[in-house]
Amino acid sequence: MTTESTELGLPVAGIIPFSATDWPGRLTVTMFTQGCPWRCIYCHNPTLQQVSAGAHDFSEVTTLLEHRRGLIDGLVISGGEPTMHRALPGAVREVHQRGFQVGLHTCGYAPIRLAALLDDESTRPDWIGLDVKAQVSDLPGVVGCTPSAAARSTAALSIVAEAAARTGMEVQVRTTVWAGGVVERNLAALRDHVAEYGFDLVVQQARGVGPDGHYRVSA
Ligand code: SF4
Repeated sequence: MTTESTELGLPVAGIIPFSATDWPGRLTVTMFTQGCPWRCIYCHNPTLQQVSAGAHDFSEVTTLLEHRRGLIDGLVISGGEPTMHRALPGAVREVHQRGFQVGLHTCGYAPIRLAALLDDESTRPDWIGLDVKAQVSDLPGVVGCTPSAAARSTAALSIVAEAAARTGMEVQVRTTVWAGGVVERNLAALRDHVAEYGFDLVVQQARGVGPDGHYRVSA
């Protein structure tokens, strides 16, 4: 499975010109990067998983931001998984240089890369929505990663917590459940784990899934 992009630009799969729901309390342009290393069983947009050049050029996003100047607070970069793209730091920096805030949705699968992004003020998002997905022991069954990748990804929470404490970066930690699924069954332990880092866990319901948690178009 490809775990990182070799594209020179940030591959943009889709753009929402105006959103009030992707960054709590902010009005944003929201873009979705193409490609994701994980295979969450409830993923409602599996077409975003495959790495490709994307349907849009990043310049379309910056043009839209300029047209929305004064009407929106910033840009949310969602996915897919944005941190798999080496072009992400440059994209965040460019949006900051244009005077807009940046929010980032990430599953934290690549903690070293995330730490590098957060270490540099110019590439550090102003807000992160970190999706912790599941306890480390449940993660391979939920997202389809290896146990070692699951163990590696757990560092993302401490990296985000440290950056938030050091810089004031805003954070929302969330997870997704489906009725009777393993994440819901072990939610109390996941909530306690997240609380150890000073965060409340926001719980989202998986959309359009069957009893087994798998996304189904007709659900
Ligand atoms: S991290 Fe998001 S885009 Fe990737 S498989 Fe999971 S739900 Fe889908």
